[in-house]
Amino acid sequence: MSSSTPVIGVLALQGDVREHLVALAEADALARPVRRPEELAEVDALVIPGGESTTMSNLALAFGMMAPLRERVAAGMPVYGSCAGMIMLAEKILDGRDDQQTVGGIDMTVRRNAFGRQNESFESAIEFRGLEGDPVHGVFIRAPWVESVGAGVEVLAELPAADGAESRIVAVRQGNLLATSFHPELTGDHRVHAYFVQLVAAAAR
Ligand code: GLN
Repeated sequence: MSSSTPVIGVLALQGDVREHLVALAEADALARPVRRPEELAEVDALVIPGGESTTMSNLALAFGMMAPLRERVAAGMPVYGSCAGMIMLAEKILDGRDDQQTVGGIDMTVRRNAFGRQNESFESAIEFRGLEGDPVHGVFIRAPWVESVGAGVEVLAELPAADGAESRIVAVRQGNLLATSFHPELTGDHRVHAYFVQLVAAAAR
């Protein structure tokens, strides 16, 4: 293995870490779990998994990870956040817990648990800009949506308007930061992970 192959960490404080490690491996990436600042220092990029963002916030603070995460993001480390990971990458959140903190980095406002009670989990075909082939199968589990984005944020996917509901932004990119409301790590379709792996490779060049 060439020493220049980027290593992608998966933040392993809480959430569906294993599924992301598998998806990254299937997208031909070198991936490993990251829990401590010393481990974060050794990776070139990071995935923040789905799970529960309030718990992730607590654990990131307890493990001394919040400040190092913010520093790496500010320094340009590529990060992909799915669901709770999207919340962690938001500069602003709505319906968060009062003491909940985020890493930030993407100039967006994200609403937690936005799709509402009757829809707490659902699946939908998603047109993802920049991915070839069929729509992505979006698995949404108590998912957030992106309420608004700043000028530097590229919208990659929206959930189409249906049944009187507005369309909603569910995937974004800002520079080296990527976030989805849904969980491609649960579907066996690793195109979103492959997209991130390409982004990581481009950032490493
Ligand atoms: N509702 C969760 C939160 O607020 C996110 C759900 C998920 O990651 N599947 O963190």
